[in-house]
Amino acid sequence: MLTIGKKEFWFVVGSQHLYGEETLLEVKKHAEILVTELNESGKLPYPIVLQELAVTADKITRVMKEANYHDEVAGVITWMHTFSPAKMWIRGTKLLQKPLLHLATQFNESIPWETIDMDFMNLNQSAHGDREYGFINARLKKQNKIVVGYWKNSKVQKQVAEWMDVAVAYNESFNIKVARFGDNMRNVAVTEGDKVEAQIQFGWTVDYFGIGDLVQYVDAVKETEIEELFNEYKTLYDFDYGSYDHQVWEDHVKAQVKQEIGLRRFLEAGNYNAFTTNFEDLYGMQQLPGLSVQRLMADGYGFAGEGDWKTAAIDRLMKVMAHNENTGFMEDYTYELAEGKESILQSHMMEVDPALATNKPKVVVSPLSMGNREDPARLVFDGKSGEGVVVTMSDFGTHFKLLINEVSAFEPEEKAPHLPVARVLWKVKPNFTEGVQSWIENGGGHHTVVSLNLTTDQIATWAKMVELDYVVIK
Ligand code: MN
Repeated sequence: MLTIGKKEFWFVVGSQHLYGEETLLEVKKHAEILVTELNESGKLPYPIVLQELAVTADKITRVMKEANYHDEVAGVITWMHTFSPAKMWIRGTKLLQKPLLHLATQFNESIPWETIDMDFMNLNQSAHGDREYGFINARLKKQNKIVVGYWKNSKVQKQVAEWMDVAVAYNESFNIKVARFGDNMRNVAVTEGDKVEAQIQFGWTVDYFGIGDLVQYVDAVKETEIEELFNEYKTLYDFDYGSYDHQVWEDHVKAQVKQEIGLRRFLEAGNYNAFTTNFEDLYGMQQLPGLSVQRLMADGYGFAGEGDWKTAAIDRLMKVMAHNENTGFMEDYTYELAEGKESILQSHMMEVDPALATNKPKVVVSPLSMGNREDPARLVFDGKSGEGVVVTMSDFGTHFKLLINEVSAFEPEEKAPHLPVARVLWKVKPNFTEGVQSWIENGGGHHTVVSLNLTTDQIATWAKMVELDYVVIK
């Protein structure tokens, strides 16, 4: 998989000197226990690292400044163990340019009625401190996440874990680089957009290349390299020769093997982690990239067809968020309208992400009415079932808007012997009529990214971090 660098989160505990050094030592001891136990819980995808107690404005400012310039720090988690006057937090919080989570928790789960005294209350006053600290984040419009509950509770830990994945994706968003082979498909509207604004708001670099730049890389691939990777395909996929002569079929598949190696080298050379193709722009290419694209998607590259750089970038973003599991580029294709069975068949002309496959993919060669090239090879499979979200982004001229629709994916019951592409099926929420109507009404496109691992809350949390308008259909 296309990996990201090492990431960690800083844990900053708020207090003050008013209660004396003994209390601060106790706060520090509790913080160490909490951090150690959370790290050892196995529930968090990234480690948390305890920082010096936040007891003065200078200390808070220093830790936030350091969090900004340490690339491995993906975000800051704060905990108000005691009351921590929030004027101390203004400068540091304003400077912080990384995601912020306010963990509204308390060291002890229950109030010890038999022994509670003023010392205990002064030491354990998260309820008091949370409100003072929360006010300043609200006033600064920090768009921080607030997770509430006992820190040993698995639901609380899950929320922290999900936020961590969003925070890492937020940071990685500034490293998303999309290579576009060709421009947008001619005359198509919804895949267009303001690339400068996208770089300002989301951090995406979107670069154009003529297809000839890629052809050079593909043509330079050696025969021995093609044979080696083709043999690897044999171990991973079923080969469906259909009615093709075996030699002809293998030649067609090897054209995609060659593309895969060339594409991968091109993207690695330019440090790109997402890309687009366009079937209208294939000069010098033997086939429209199909299987080759699917193989790169499976490795974590973001992709969308027809020059759709917005969806390619979101694909990469959501793959980072979901650790590249059950997440990929999709296109609304065909409705099932029979009463009680209403659903939407999702697919693309070839490029469906094998990350969503429920069965072993088979390699199929089939004619393609578009692209005007030889019959391309692709992976064919059925999609997994599960609850998830489907996401798209449209440019409204004055702003981008994100659409999030909750979906229930299910495995197809019927066979489709004449369909030479992978297929994914889902029902939209709240129901077919309202879900589809809201999507169309809000200007949602036909290119999307689906994830059966991510939640609406996670996508909305990212949208808030980048101050992006979003609509939830659920
Ligand atoms: Mn398309």
